[in-house]
Amino acid sequence: MNLSNRQRHEQRLRIRRLVISALSHGMLLIILGSALTLNLLNSISWEHYFLFIITAAVTQAGFWLIIHYDLNLKLDDPSMTLLQMSTAIIWFSLVISELPEVRGALLILYVMVMLFGIFQLSMLEFAFAGLLSLVCFGAVIIADISFRPEITSLKLSIMQWIILATAQTWIALFGSYVRKLSERLKRQRSVLKASNDKMVRTNEELEQAMLQLDEIAGTDELTGILNRRRFFQEAEARLHNIDNYQACALCMIDIDYFKGINDRYGHQCGDQVLEQFSRIASSCLRTTDLFGRYGGEEFILLLPHNNQESGIKVAERIRQSFSSHCFNELEQGLSFTLSAGITLHRWGEPLENTLKRADDALYRAKKGGRNQTVYISGARNQPA
Ligand code: GH3
Ligand code: MG
Ligand code: MG
Repeated sequence: MNLSNRQRHEQRLRIRRLVISALSHGMLLIILGSALTLNLLNSISWEHYFLFIITAAVTQAGFWLIIHYDLNLKLDDPSMTLLQMSTAIIWFSLVISELPEVRGALLILYVMVMLFGIFQLSMLEFAFAGLLSLVCFGAVIIADISFRPEITSLKLSIMQWIILATAQTWIALFGSYVRKLSERLKRQRSVLKASNDKMVRTNEELEQAMLQLDEIAGTDELTGILNRRRFFQEAEARLHNIDNYQACALCMIDIDYFKGINDRYGHQCGDQVLEQFSRIASSCLRTTDLFGRYGGEEFILLLPHNNQESGIKVAERIRQSFSSHCFNELEQGLSFTLSAGITLHRWGEPLENTLKRADDALYRAKKGGRNQTVYISGARNQPA
């Protein structure tokens, strides 16, 4: 049978409870065996004793087989608590029926059996087990009177029965109190668990919302790339982590005559050009590159692991891809150009110094006729 994890766990618990029951049987048998060895019991023979061992072994093994082959799961009460208790009550009654000398002391066994079901049984089932023990013990007394009248004291037996009845009533009341307590605890635990789960869920949602908010706060609304503030935050963090030997390029890009695009085709079309430029530039970059909108039609790139040659290559790739793109939706064959200024970051220098050089390079690209990339070295003592 394919069992869920929960069912497997419950079956393991049932086996553990069965071991406790078997140990209780075993303990009684050891006590009886010791008393027999010491010749303290006259009324019981070794044959009877071995019969008790066999019946105990058969009943406990029977329960073990039922649980082992998961047959108990087909029953209304898979724990078989009442069945196990009833079997134990009958078995104990048979044992004590053979032991009139120590019967009074052995009455405690009935109470022990009741404790076995204190958390499992309903009030009705618990009362049934108590009544069964009284009936069985009554039967033992009747058997004594019928078959061993010479050694039986009727008054003492009735007194023992009354003591057992009182003890079982007490344990039934105590059991119902304990059960109520345990149910209340269970309820409180499930309420606590539910509120804890809810808190965990809310926390996760909150974290998710914070992440989303953080992403929104760092994204340029029009183009979807990093905004200026987040670009510089991330760039500072990256530059903080690179070492002396890693070249890192900073590139500023500005779309040429963008004001003219707005003037001629309208602001919305200008926006479309900015969006398209962002898409084209993103497709030319690696995932490790940082790309942000500096403002208006100006963009900024941080290109880690890039020297002069590879940095210029990236800028040129973007420039050429953009200028070869036709904005046919605005006008057939319409294309635009851009200018780029690039420099290398000097290890340890403030980012604004690098930015200033890139901006100077961009200015030169504009001055030099636009639609070009200009590089300014990041090396110290380099003539401007
Ligand atoms: P240059 O070649 O020298 O860079 O000339 P330019 O016209 O591109 O530069 P200029 O600084 O004169 O004009 C930039 C224009 O960009 C002005 C501004 O209205 C426009 N602009 C800034 N932000 C946006 C935007 O988000 N959307 C649109 N459509 N236009 C914008
Ligand atoms: Mg500009
Ligand atoms: Mg411009």
